[in-house]
Amino acid sequence: MQQRNFHFSEKKRVVVKIGSSSLNYEKTGRLNLTKLEHLVRELCNIRNRGMDVCLVSSGAIAAGRQSLGLAERPKDISTKQACAAVGQAGLMMVYQKLFAEYNQVAGQVLMTKNTMVNPVSRENARNTFEELFRLGVIPIVNENDTVSTYEMQFGDNDTLSAIVASLTGADLLILLSDIDGLFTDDPHKNPDARLIEVVERMDSAVYGMAKGSTGSDLGTGGMTTKLTAAKIATLSGADMIIANGKDVCILHHIFDDSFTGTIFKADKKDSFRIADFILETIG
Ligand code: GLU
Repeated sequence: MQQRNFHFSEKKRVVVKIGSSSLNYEKTGRLNLTKLEHLVRELCNIRNRGMDVCLVSSGAIAAGRQSLGLAERPKDISTKQACAAVGQAGLMMVYQKLFAEYNQVAGQVLMTKNTMVNPVSRENARNTFEELFRLGVIPIVNENDTVSTYEMQFGDNDTLSAIVASLTGADLLILLSDIDGLFTDDPHKNPDARLIEVVERMDSAVYGMAKGSTGSDLGTGGMTTKLTAAKIATLSGADMIIANGKDVCILHHIFDDSFTGTIFKADKKDSFRIADFILETIG
């Protein structure tokens, strides 16, 4: 593991995103409770360092699919929404229980695209996050999959987590993924693919490295959505890290500046408006 001096321990507000493929066993699709426990401990520990913490957690649809006994990830929207309704409640129950063990209060925030494009809802959401942080609460965010129809969907939690980072003025976004970071090529196919450690600027060379597929049937994000997230986060003034969520202990290694992953450096543009970006690019 390489030592770098990015001083992430000096950050003030951190958004951590974990995907379904990191939270569930690949073979059964069921929740990996040990991992969830470790994740919660790591997040509480980041709070104990004195930072505001927000978790963007997927896994609602996967959890609901398990509870309802569906063998495969549903494709039609109403079954997905039914799975999310069941699964989101179950997921929060587990999170609440685990956070309570560390005496940490967690709250649920469910968002749709409408939350962001409507100025009144956006301002309300911003105020709610601010108040939750003031009260020391860890917000747990997901897309409101039960009501967000195709037209109003973010669609993936990589993008959603960057939007949350932008909305809340976070200075660090960490995407825990099933891959070590951004590679020069798809490492599953090309053994010569190299991990990129630092991305100073989002340019066409960086976009050229993205491969579209997710490699798992649990979540929705691939490298393309991670680069969209990187664009939103960096232009909003946050550093972003892609790191492997296989072992969530990587979180404390990040704050010790000693980990494997890709760092996208903040490149704040005052003219960047998250609502305009959503309208122009996400649809
Ligand atoms: N919101 C979806 C869920 O909780 C997941 C979206 C994603 O994994 O990107 O199941």
